[in-house]
Amino acid sequence: MTERKYPLLWKKKDFSIKIFCSIPNIATGILLKAGNSNFIIDPGDGILRDLNKEIGVENLLSISDIFVTHGHHDHVGGVWSLLTYLRVMQKKSPLTIHYPEGCVEIESIYNAFKKVYSKSITYKINLKSIKKTNGFSSGNITVKPFPVIHKEFLYIGKTRQVPALGYNFLYEGKTICYGGDTAYCDELVNHARNADLAILEAGHDDETPNDMHMTMKEAVTIGKSAKKYFLVHVPEKI
Ligand SMILES: [Zn+2]
Ligand SMILES: [Zn+2]
Repeated sequence: MTERKYPLLWKKKDFSIKIFCSIPNIATGILLKAGNSNFIIDPGDGILRDLNKEIGVENLLSISDIFVTHGHHDHVGGVWSLLTYLRVMQKKSPLTIHYPEGCVEIESIYNAFKKVYSKSITYKINLKSIKKTNGFSSGNITVKPFPVIHKEFLYIGKTRQVPALGYNFLYEGKTICYGGDTAYCDELVNHARNADLAILEAGHDDETPNDMHMTMKEAVTIGKSAKKYFLVHVPEKI
């Protein structure tokens, strides 16, 4: 089903995910809720505004984990303001940022943040680069990262593969699969199958498959193997 009006919300009892925004080259921002815990996925530009409005300061201060799929600006553009806001509001509990190994953007933002605010950071930041895609627990959820295929343009005619992950999030028998930005790949096919919700990008702007984003047709094919799916990251036509 094609749903492109943001925010998108999926909810089963006390497990929910809200996609505030997912527009290629502009911004992504996702809030995952499991019981009383809140998690952030891909904090692009605008995430602080959206979270502040959605869950308020106290809940923002208690967030323990951020999950980043890759370092493109439309997925990490809000990290600086989030880290700074949490410092200004005197966060005390630790914050862990999960990201794919080799994602230089997250490490650079973190290093700059530490340099600028070296004497006044009120909370511990753990950087967890994901090398092996083994499952792990974060609070009350289980997280299963998986590698996906995503590229970026370097200069005319040249591209490079960027470190990129998708994540499956499991809570009380339900699974949400979020592929991040990805071309059609077996890992995504396997992780989306039978998921209660699959969040799939359809970021390619025509129907010729490539190794950067999925076409609408590819995304729909994968989506149909899940119980429900959202198509996101669809280029907006002007
Ligand atoms: Zn993107
Ligand atoms: Zn990207």
